[in-house]
Amino acid sequence: MFCRIVSGEVPAEILHEDAEILAFRDINPQAPHHILVVPRKHMDSLLQVEEGDMHLLGRMHQVVAQLARQNGLVDEGFRVVVNTGPAGGQTVGHLHFHLLGGRDMRWPPG
Ligand code: AMP
Repeated sequence: MFCRIVSGEVPAEILHEDAEILAFRDINPQAPHHILVVPRKHMDSLLQVEEGDMHLLGRMHQVVAQLARQNGLVDEGFRVVVNTGPAGGQTVGHLHFHLLGGRDMRWPPG
């Protein structure tokens, strides 16, 4: 599914786009701000990250921080989640970071 958003085949509300990374609003938001940060390169999950992906993974975190600033989440804080595998709650098999903000988060997460 996210490869089809990356290719432009499926529309999304895109908030950030560069040669390696795309960020768009989650279609089923779980917080007032719910943004997905996705590498253009297909990786099923964190488990497929390789040595050569270190720069990309670092840049994904930079994009998260940039989006948090742009969405006014710096003072109140936010949460970054990477669901992995069925018990981790992953439903889309393309690596993505969830950026969630705009409400108080609970701990432990459900
Ligand atoms: P996960 O369950 O961690 O794999 O996260 C997948 C997320 O993708 C869920 O929060 C979905 O709401 C979201 N999602 C699925 N399809 C789309 C889509 N076409 N556009 C935006 N978000 C989507």
